[in-house]
Amino acid sequence: MTDQAVSLWAKARGTLGEVLNEGAFTAWIAPATPISFEDNVFVLEVSSRFFRTYITNHHLDEIRSALALAAGLGSEQVTVELRVAAESPAQAVQQVAEEPAGPPARGAPRARSVNAHYIFNRFVVGASNKQAYARAIAVANAPAKEYNPLFIYGGVGLGKTHLMHAIGHEIARQQPAAKICFITGEKFTNELIDAIQNRRMARFRSIYRRVDVLLIDDVHFLAGKESTQEEFFHTFNDLYDNHSQIVLTSDRGPKEIRGLEERLVSRFEWGVVDDVGPPDLELRMAILGHRAAERAIQLPQDVRAYVARNIKYNIRELEGALNRMVAFAKVEGRPITVELAQEALRTILPAERGKQITIDLIQRKVAEHFSLRALDLKMKKRTKSVVLPRQVAMFLSRELTDRSLPEIGDYFGGRDHSTVIHACRTVTNRIAADETLRDTVEKLAEDIRE
Ligand code: ADP
Ligand code: MG
Repeated sequence: MTDQAVSLWAKARGTLGEVLNEGAFTAWIAPATPISFEDNVFVLEVSSRFFRTYITNHHLDEIRSALALAAGLGSEQVTVELRVAAESPAQAVQQVAEEPAGPPARGAPRARSVNAHYIFNRFVVGASNKQAYARAIAVANAPAKEYNPLFIYGGVGLGKTHLMHAIGHEIARQQPAAKICFITGEKFTNELIDAIQNRRMARFRSIYRRVDVLLIDDVHFLAGKESTQEEFFHTFNDLYDNHSQIVLTSDRGPKEIRGLEERLVSRFEWGVVDDVGPPDLELRMAILGHRAAERAIQLPQDVRAYVARNIKYNIRELEGALNRMVAFAKVEGRPITVELAQEALRTILPAERGKQITIDLIQRKVAEHFSLRALDLKMKKRTKSVVLPRQVAMFLSRELTDRSLPEIGDYFGGRDHSTVIHACRTVTNRIAADETLRDTVEKLAEDIRE
């Protein structure tokens, strides 16, 4: 354990304590141990593979951002490695930072810090994002016409910022004179505070209330910040009245943002609200293929499938995996094969697939643990003794296999996918609050992998 790792982690934990709900923080973040921080790779130790899977699937981006903030780095620069205690430290591969970002992230001349990397051509469309994509294109081609504001929400690393920048680029390309402003909710807040302190409100307003296109990223950051919301409300109204296009992104829908004033919620819903969901296997493979092709990298189909099966919730992690494999192949002077991928990704993949985990197996193990029959989990019975085990089995099926929600529902006596979503949420919330249940689920997960 290095001093630097310990002090960075202390700061990062502070941030995480604010962004995560208390249960999630206590369950997943608090027990982790900082090990080292070298060459921008932060090694964090967790108690089991299940912890690693869970954290990788749900909290890795937040951890990375918090660490980056603590270290004064961009979050793209930091790599987080989750190591399972007692596991031999696998050969560490340094992930090459980000792929070369092409031209510096200045974007079109008038666009205020639009990332040149994020254009429509580099956005791969699939079932989970096609609606948001179509709407983004429509807005780019006809700003302030049909969809104003456009509100895009979804989990981390699913392409919201990418789509938002792409809109900015496309408008700048079609209308070079358009004044386009990209800003994050956080920066907007900070600049506002600054302007108030330095009595520069007039200037602040003249910047934000005179643009043709305002792109405001991660607007959930305004939650609970009253004076920022007040100012933003007026900015919004001015822009809207002037027929300027407004695009917003957030990690959840307008109504779900706690601490957001009702009048803003209703403004955000004036136009159209779209979500981007987690990518399915097909889209994950397509994105990998696309990214590899861009860089003229040979990425065999089976490697694509292997990586896409193992990284499920976050497209940024997919890109990270590709970078890692490329770096590893270069160092070793070997072509990229499934074997190489396994070695290169060992420390970042949520689960080593020693064997194929099936829902049947999960049902058997869970039933056994709760002294039930696997059949009970598939039947309609709603008695208390069956409900929780069934939810746990659904949760583990979601975490440990590649099955889609409807497929999981089928395995449990033809239940609807919304039932599976509900089960996963329930278990997520309960294990965050209940240590005994968390231990049980963790042991079951380990047992299933044996
Ligand atoms: P979010 O803002 O939703 O957290 P980002 O827009 O930052 O996510 O996306 C994370 C990374 O994944 C970016 O590098 C982005 O280019 C890439 N990405 C996301 N969605 C896609 C997609 N559909 N096709 C290609 N790359 C994508
Ligand atoms: Mg984003």
